[in-house]
Amino acid sequence: MSIQTKMNESQPPRANTTQTDEQHKYAATFHSPANERTVIVNNEANALQFKAYLSQQFNEITHHPEADHYVESLFEVYSQAPDTKTLLGHFCRTCGGHCCTQAGNTAFLDLTSLKGIIEKLNITSLQQLERLYCCYIPTLHYQNSCIFHGKHGCSLPNWLRSETCNRFMCSELNYFYHHLQQSDHLLTQRASYTKVIAKSDTTKHTYRVSVFSVDEYQELRLGTSN
Ligand code: SF4
Ligand code: SF4
Repeated sequence: MSIQTKMNESQPPRANTTQTDEQHKYAATFHSPANERTVIVNNEANALQFKAYLSQQFNEITHHPEADHYVESLFEVYSQAPDTKTLLGHFCRTCGGHCCTQAGNTAFLDLTSLKGIIEKLNITSLQQLERLYCCYIPTLHYQNSCIFHGKHGCSLPNWLRSETCNRFMCSELNYFYHHLQQSDHLLTQRASYTKVIAKSDTTKHTYRVSVFSVDEYQELRLGTSN
């Protein structure tokens, strides 16, 4: 699917890419998780629950600004090169946001994340915070998933997402990431054009196969195995 991925957006194609038959070989196949939820209308109850959650978090932050739960995230921070970020984004695009299904109507917006956003944008009222987020609630979203998990991926810009959303890597993505770190040829797309195959792998046998490089993303099949 053509989605704005959890991790990042696709880069525009680059010019002057030279391709030969030899250069079109596939480098490796990786299995990703898969979001198998159905897309439904995002109902008002979700929005109300999200607003109630925001209110609760905002009150906590404004009444206890020095509380010690605003610790730095313990997630490992990856300093990713732009090409690496693009490839990780393509991997998540194949998955479709399986990890987002755990976020419900909180979007993983913990106190640390919200406090950072409130301070950065100099937000002084709950109404301001609500307006900022609620305009991004998509009309359609995946059933029983994050309120912002829209048909085409996350509807929030990266700078409004939680620390968890911006840093989390599932074990499959982590495996792919470490493979990239050790495989320079996957990143020299301009010259070698080597591709990656990602295949979603689920108990329900829904599969989604994509072939991608830094410069392009192609979904080959989307269906159900026998
Ligand atoms: S981090 Fe993992 S589960 Fe989440 S979208 Fe990416 S591949 Fe899917
Ligand atoms: S805000 Fe929701 S949809 Fe967006 S990345 Fe986080 S969990 Fe996924």
